[in-house]
Amino acid sequence: MPQRPLDVGVIGCGTAGAAAALLLCRAGHKVTVYERVEGPGAVGAGIMLQPTGQAVLRALGLLDGVIARAEPLESLRCETIQRRQLFKLDYGALPGGHRGYGLHRGALFERLFAAVKSCGATLRTGVEIDDLVATEDNAGLWFVQPDRTRLGPHELCVVADGARSRLRDDTSIRKAVRPYPWGAVWCVLDDPEARFTRSLYQVLDGTRRMVGALPSGLGPGEAAGPRKVSVFYSVRHDRAEAWKARGLERCKRELREFIPALDAVLDQVVDPQQLVFTRYQDVAMYPWNTDRVVYLGDAAHAMSPQLGQGANLALLDAMVLAQSLAAEDGVAAGLTRYSRTRRSNLAFYSFATRWLTPWFQSDHTALGWLRDVGFPLGMRLPGVERLMVKVMTGLAQGTGLGRPLALPSE
Ligand SMILES: Cc1cc2nc3c(=O)[nH]c(=O)nc-3n(C[C@H](O)[C@H](O)[C@H](O)COP(=O)(O)OP(=O)(O)OC[C@H]3O[C@@H](n4cnc5c(N)ncnc54)[C@H](O)[C@@H]3O)c2cc1C
Repeated sequence: MPQRPLDVGVIGCGTAGAAAALLLCRAGHKVTVYERVEGPGAVGAGIMLQPTGQAVLRALGLLDGVIARAEPLESLRCETIQRRQLFKLDYGALPGGHRGYGLHRGALFERLFAAVKSCGATLRTGVEIDDLVATEDNAGLWFVQPDRTRLGPHELCVVADGARSRLRDDTSIRKAVRPYPWGAVWCVLDDPEARFTRSLYQVLDGTRRMVGALPSGLGPGEAAGPRKVSVFYSVRHDRAEAWKARGLERCKRELREFIPALDAVLDQVVDPQQLVFTRYQDVAMYPWNTDRVVYLGDAAHAMSPQLGQGANLALLDAMVLAQSLAAEDGVAAGLTRYSRTRRSNLAFYSFATRWLTPWFQSDHTALGWLRDVGFPLGMRLPGVERLMVKVMTGLAQGTGLGRPLALPSE
């Protein structure tokens, strides 16, 4: 029997929270979104929009508006600093006419946020939720602010408060939260000569140094103008400040050594504040729900961005949640169905990311040698390129070898 309309509280209005709010509102539920930031802005750097994320945005009617600001990607190119190609993954290697898009996180956020504001959900910004407390009759949850003020109650709580989730700390669900020793220094720059198009380009020196350039389309709020490129430099968290402290000119020289085409583009970096360090985090938990609470997006399964899946997994989470609730009678049954349905795809990407990351970012020098020899050889084996492209598109699940994930439709 289809779910009766529920009173839903969503915590966090990032990718997962905004998409969940939209989908649940459209399904007829009464939705309130609580977002800690007073005036949520279009911040961040480049992200990759994979076929999975595209399918969710298409179902939401937002895809055209998002990709109008994005840069189409045909491939991921990875080479060594000695200019030896490690691999080139073409979306075209997989049937289905897939492609990726590079876009500014802010450009995606703007579209989602505008849609949330007009979908009928109640949006409460500048409200931080610190705790969840069951009502006396156990029919709902109070949403508690840091000053202990209670909001709600709501029958269903969607926790989408990001990788450093506060609400996740208190759940009884078994979990492991591990910050990676590594992260990246990022900056977003204009690319007026369109030097970076069609590919995410990464250049590696062993496992300790990597520079990447992701075409990122138009910036937030821009309808025209030069396309952006997001530049990132892989660095251990405890070396990031020292790297920047060497001075801007030395940093830029090192980036140019990896990708000479960054030459003039890097002239725009004039202030160390433009170089922003982000440390990665790995979150493992299962299931992602209790009877009234469900964890979506990075709060549930933050991972290093090696496979470029973060926003796409968050969008899929939201879609599957709305479908699971529609398919079951009762909140608990809907949430149980959600965790079961997401397990195969999320288990694959959590495992694959954990396994792959040290080959690209770690202090294990030997892994760099093995990678430089092994990856080009491995790519010649039948089926390997196709498998890797399937992984890149977001469509892998289970062991990765079986049938791809069915793309969600409305
Ligand atoms: C400011 C910012 C910049 C980012 N930049 C990049 C980037 O450049 N490249 C990239 O690949 N990924 C970036 N990410 C991560 C990327 O957006 C996520 O991996 C992906 O979109 C999954 O989104 P999410 O909704 O799970 O989490 P997020 O996008 O992190 O959203 C979580 C939201 O919850 C809100 N929140 C947190 N705690 C509370 C609380 N207690 N109460 C109420 N609200 C709360 C936060 O303010 C935020 O809006 C960024 C995230 C943020 C928040």
